[in-house]
Order: sequence, then structure tokens, then C-alpha cells
Amino acid sequence: MHVQAYIDNVFRTAVSRNAGEPEFHQALHEVLESIGPVLEQHPEYLEAGILERLVEPERQIMFRVPWVDDSGSVQVNRGFRVQFNSALGPYKGGLRFHPSVNLGIIKFLGFEQILKNALTGQGIGGAKGGSDFDPHGRSDREIERFSQSFMTELYRHLGEHTDVPAGDIGVGAREIGYLFGQYRKITNRHESGMFTGKGVQWGGAEVRTEATGYGAVFFLQEMLARRGEGLEGRTAIVSGSGNVAIYAIEKLHQLGAKALTASDSSGYIVDEAGIDLELLKQLKEVERVRISEYAERRSSARFVPDRRVWEVSGDVAIPSATQNELDGDDAAALIAGGVIAVSEGANMPSTPEAVTAFQEAGVLFAPGKAANAGGVATSALEMSQNASRQRWGFDDSEARLRDIMSNVHDAAFAASERYGRPGDYVLGANAAGFVRVADAMLAQGLI
Ligand code: GLU
Repeated sequence: MHVQAYIDNVFRTAVSRNAGEPEFHQALHEVLESIGPVLEQHPEYLEAGILERLVEPERQIMFRVPWVDDSGSVQVNRGFRVQFNSALGPYKGGLRFHPSVNLGIIKFLGFEQILKNALTGQGIGGAKGGSDFDPHGRSDREIERFSQSFMTELYRHLGEHTDVPAGDIGVGAREIGYLFGQYRKITNRHESGMFTGKGVQWGGAEVRTEATGYGAVFFLQEMLARRGEGLEGRTAIVSGSGNVAIYAIEKLHQLGAKALTASDSSGYIVDEAGIDLELLKQLKEVERVRISEYAERRSSARFVPDRRVWEVSGDVAIPSATQNELDGDDAAALIAGGVIAVSEGANMPSTPEAVTAFQEAGVLFAPGKAANAGGVATSALEMSQNASRQRWGFDDSEARLRDIMSNVHDAAFAASERYGRPGDYVLGANAAGFVRVADAMLAQGLI
């Protein structure tokens, strides 16, 4: 069969089999539309049905999560874990607690995770999980009870050689502590390697917290360096105010750039003097309050409710909030404002229209599965340290992350050249990740 007809057929079948899951369809489409040149060179993938198998999760788990809120009322949420592909290693990927979570969102994230994890060069498969639980405004005790109930079901599907979760939106150090604690209690095993993002005092890795944000900036640096450019003196537009955004801003500042913005679901702040990172950390990591509070406490900043950061001009952009937060109009605004490079800290933050607009305007564009791979790559370093009962220092760990991001960049760039579109990091990341997974699946037979 003609390659393109074959790809179209796989896509159509996947869409009808996963009806009502637009984010998953979007993620599939983005990968499948770029993978043609790879399949042309690898007819053996077609014969082995690699593509049909890749788009179908190995296992999907959905479960009830009952818990009691502070007023004594019973609440019921839905939990998910999609174990997508384990050809390269144990299932690996974060847990997201957010009201928007549904099976389609988890599938899109799990699918992205397969290729992202492959691209890191580490031995980790792809998975994602989470719940439609909304942590916002919940007390510590409620978070604890919810996390315990969630793990009371999920624990049976996990293990250091089976499936290793980590954090994602709504799941940070506090939640990971409660989740890990419940697993330990149920199984009577202090099995460090079954979860990553742990506290550094009990098996966690240095730099894991910073890794996704730092990594997205390192990737940006790599892309700019290929054009003989750097970050020194650049202004940066960053969205979000979670883990990814905070540490992207930290690294931008360390490298001589100036981040001007941060945001949450209520709006954004712009600070022409550059984001005061200590204040942002205090508000978001300690006080857990709205971003508008930043402008209350800092005179150089202003709060803009219900709008997106992309209307502010800057040299580089790091979308670090959530999927589809940057559309075609936002891309046009950034381009008009003179943006030269975009590095996705979040998963699939740019819509297909935005990606096309950046590429057509000659803006360097790094898709999330390459640019934000530093988080999961450092998770793999955490697993290595757990397995060998070692602890590496901060500088050592950061140097390893730096190397990994440079390798991810080079692998994506080399694949973009090999498959005919030099500098197209979307094609490059998809192709390099895909080939690695496909070869492993081929070698392991029809399973
Ligand atoms: N949630 C992160 C991601 O999207 C990290 C996953 C992990 O460390 O397992 O890649």
C-alpha cells in the first residue's frame, strides 16, 4: 500500500476508535503527518504493523477514587493510568490532577511521552495518568486523603520494573510524598524506584524539580547557538507559574536573559524590570495564591486579567502552562513582536495553526516532546541513582541534564536533515523518537 494512504488509514481508524478525544487526535495527527518520510525508508515497519500498534495503548486503567472532604462529605473522582508503550523500558510518565483531565487528555499525554522518552536515549517506556480532581482551594488534609485513595487503587499497577509515575500539573512534591507514602504502606516496601520526583532526602534526585524548566532553556540555547546567537540580553515571554515556568525563568536569568511575564488561569503579570523569582516562588510554591498578588507586591509589575501573555513582545517564548494555550492569533502576535525562537516547556501548548505560523515565519520552534524532555530524562537519572543506591550532587546532575538536552537537540536536528527538512524540529523529534521505539518493537516480536 502507498505509505500516505496507509498512514491516513491508521489515523482514521484511531480517530473512530477513540471518538470524542480531540487532544489525542491532535497529538496523533501531528506525529502521523510527519512520519511519512520515515516509513518510506523503513518498509519493515509497515509489515510489522508498528504504526497500528503504536497508536493503541498497551493497557488503559480507569478507576473510582472516593474520599471525604473537610466538611465530611463523600467525594468521588475518576482516576486514570494509560500504560502506552513499554518497548524501551518500564512505563514512565507523570500524573496530572486537574479538572480538565479525561481519558483523551491522558492518552494524548501518554502518546507524546512514548516519543519524548525515546528521544532522551534512556530506557523508559511511555505512560501518563491522573485524575479530574481539582486541588485548587483544597486543604493539605484533603490533598492527603485524595492522594491516598488514588494510590490505594493504582499501587497494584505500579513498580520499579513495571510503571514509574512522577508529577505533572497539580502533582508536585507534596502530592508525590503522600502518594509514595501510601504505596510504601500498602506494599511494605520502600521501593524508591517506583516513583520519581521524590524529596531529595528520601530517594529523590537533585535537579529533578528544576529539570523541565532548565531543560527547555538549554534546548533554546542549542537552537540559537546553531544560528550563532545566544540568550544574553534577550527578553523572554513565559507563560504559567508552576514548576516548569519558575525554573525556566531561573535559568533564563542565570544565562543573562530577562523574563517579563508569568501567568495562571486568572490572567498574567508583566514586569518590565524582569520577574522577581523569589517573590514568584513565595506566592506559588509557599502561599499558593493567585498571580495577581505579584502585582500587588511589586510596583514595576501589572496584572492583566483573563488574557494571555503572548500579546507582550519579546525575543524568545517559553509556553509552560498547558495544552493549546497558544493559538494561531497568539503566534501572529508574537511574530509581529519580533520573536525569534519558541521552546515548549508544556506538552503541546501550541495549536497546529501556531506551529505552522512559526515555521513559515522562520522562527526556531522546539516541540514539547524535545524541549521539555529534561524533566523525564532527569527522572531516569533518579531511577539510576535509586537502583545503585547513589546520590549525585547538584552540579553533576545539572551537567548531565545539560548533556542530555544537547544530545536531544542533536538527535532531533540530525533526523530533520535525514528525512529532508533540516531545522524542522517537529519532524526531527518525531522521527528520532519513533525510529528508536519502532526498532525495539520490531526486535521484540508481535506482542
Ligand atoms: N510530567 C513530565 C512530562 O510531561 C515528567 C514525567 C516523568 O518524569 O516521568 O514529561
